[in-house]
Amino acid sequence: MTDPEVHPVYDYDLLVIGSGPGGQKAAIAAAKLGKRVAIADRGHMMGGVCVNTGTIPSKTLREAVLYLSGFSQREMYGASYRVKAEITIDDLLARTRHVIGREVEIVRNQLLRNHVDIVTGTARFTDPHTVTVEGHGRGDHTTVTAAHFVIATGTRPARPDTVAFDGERVVDSDQILELGRVPGSLVVVGAGVIGIEYASMFAALGTRVTVVEKRNAMLDFCDPEVIESLKFHLRDQAVTFRFGEEVSSVSVNGRGTVTSLASGKKIPADMVMYSAGRQGLTDELDLENAGLTADRRGRIEVDKQFRSSVEHIAAVGDVIGFPALASTSMDQGRLAAYHLFDEPVRQLHELQPIGIYTIPEISFCGHTEAELTSAAIPYETGLARYRELARGAIVGDSYGMLKLLVSSEDRRLLGVHVFGTNATDLVHIGQAVMGCGGTVDYLVDTVFNYPTLSEAYKVAALDATNKIRALESVQNS
Ligand SMILES: Cc1cc2nc3c(=O)[nH]c(=O)nc-3n(C[C@H](O)[C@H](O)[C@H](O)COP(=O)(O)OP(=O)(O)OC[C@H]3O[C@@H](n4cnc5c(N)ncnc54)[C@H](O)[C@@H]3O)c2cc1C
Repeated sequence: MTDPEVHPVYDYDLLVIGSGPGGQKAAIAAAKLGKRVAIADRGHMMGGVCVNTGTIPSKTLREAVLYLSGFSQREMYGASYRVKAEITIDDLLARTRHVIGREVEIVRNQLLRNHVDIVTGTARFTDPHTVTVEGHGRGDHTTVTAAHFVIATGTRPARPDTVAFDGERVVDSDQILELGRVPGSLVVVGAGVIGIEYASMFAALGTRVTVVEKRNAMLDFCDPEVIESLKFHLRDQAVTFRFGEEVSSVSVNGRGTVTSLASGKKIPADMVMYSAGRQGLTDELDLENAGLTADRRGRIEVDKQFRSSVEHIAAVGDVIGFPALASTSMDQGRLAAYHLFDEPVRQLHELQPIGIYTIPEISFCGHTEAELTSAAIPYETGLARYRELARGAIVGDSYGMLKLLVSSEDRRLLGVHVFGTNATDLVHIGQAVMGCGGTVDYLVDTVFNYPTLSEAYKVAALDATNKIRALESVQNS
C-alpha cells in the first residue's frame, strides 16, 4: 500500500474538522510535527462552541454578573451593594462580545502562525480520504483530501421535539447569549452543570429562578456536602428547586410563559431555558461515506488512542462523550495527533479536575467520599473553612470550604473538594500533590503565602493529621 506520508498523494497529511479546543490542539500538534495540516469550520464558529457559545461566553458573563451586581462584595458593603443599579443585557453582553472577539483572533493567529490552512464551511465525507467543505455562497465548495482526519465537531443543545423554542421566551443555552433583556423570572429545565451555572448567574442578577429536574438530585458526582452548601446559597437567592418533576408542556403568550409539570403544578415566568443535555454534531458529516457510524446521541466511539473504527480517522472532544469539557478536549486533540502519526506519547493523567462555575464555584479532583466508601478504602477528612482564614475575611467569603480526603493507612492525598472563591484555581494544588503521589505531610510541612486562600490546604491538612493522630493514639494505647 502507498504510504501517504512518503508519497504525498493527498492534499494534506491531516484534515481536522472543527476548530474548538480539541480540533485546534490536534492541528497545532500535527503542524509542530512538520505535517501539512488544514482545519475546517464554519466561518462564524472559529474557536468552536468553546469560544462562541459555551465556555468562554458563559464564564465572561459570569464575571460581568459578579462585577456589575457587586455580588462578591456584599458581605463587606451590605446586601444592597451594586456597581450598577439597573443592569441591562447590553452591559453583560458587551464584555462577552469583547472577549469572544479577542479569543477568535488568538485561535486564528495561532493556526496561521503554525501554517495550518483554514478551510471555511461545513465539511462532509465523500469517501474515507475525501471531504467536501461547503461555504455559504452558491457553488462555494472545496474538495480536500487527507491521509488522516480528526473529527472534533462537538455538540449542540438537545431540543425536545415537544417544546417550541422561539429564541425569546423559550431558549436553549446557546440562545441565552442573544437575550434582549434580563428576565425578571426564569424557569431552568435541567439541573446539570450548564443549567445550574446559568441559574446561579441569573439569581445573582436578581432574577427569580425555578429549577426543574426530573431526577431527585443534582450534580450527584460531586461531594454531597458541597452540593448542599450550593443549594443553600441558591435558595437564599430566591432559587426554587423542583426535583423529581417533569415538564409536560410550556405555553407562551405575549405576557410570558407557563411551564406545566406532570404533577399538575404550573410555573409562570418571563422566560424558560432548556438545558437538557447535548447531541453530538455528526449528522452533517455523512459518516457512512467514511465507513463510520455514530450512536443515538450522535457520538463517535474511539479507542484509547482516540482512533475510530476507521484507523486513519480519530475523534476527540465532546463528540466522543464524557467528560465533554474544554480542558480535556484540548489534551485529547494533542494526543490524537501524536497517535495518528505514531509519535511516542504518554497517556492522559487519570487525575482530571472538574470545575463548575456556579456562584459560588465548585471544583474537585480525585476521589469522592462515596467512591472511597464503596471501594472500602479507609480515609480521614480534613476541613478548612474560609471564614477561619485571614484571606477569607479580606475577600468577604465566609461560606467557602476546602475538604481533603486522606488515606488513614499511608497518608496519601486521595481527593480534594473546594467550594467558594477561586475553587477552580485552588484545586490544582491538590491535583499536583496527588499527581506526584504526595501525602498530607507535604501540605503540613509546606509554608504558604499569607494571607491566601491556598492556606486552606494547610489548615485542612492539620485537621486531617490531628484526626489520624487521635485514632493512632487510641489504637496504640
Ligand atoms: C454553556 C457551556 C458552558 C461550558 N463551560 C465549560 C467550562 O467552564 N469548562 C470547560 O472545560 N468546558 C465547558 N464547556 C464545555 C466545552 O465548551 C466543550 O467541552 C468544548 O467546547 C468541546 O470542544 P470540542 O473540541 O469538542 O469542539 P467544540 O468547541 O464543540 O467545537 C466544535 C466545532 O466543530 C464545528 N463543526 C461541527 N460540525 C462541523 C462540520 N460538519 N464541518 C465543519 N465544522 C463543523 C462547529 O462549528 C464548532 O465550531 C461548556 C459548554 C457549554 C455549552
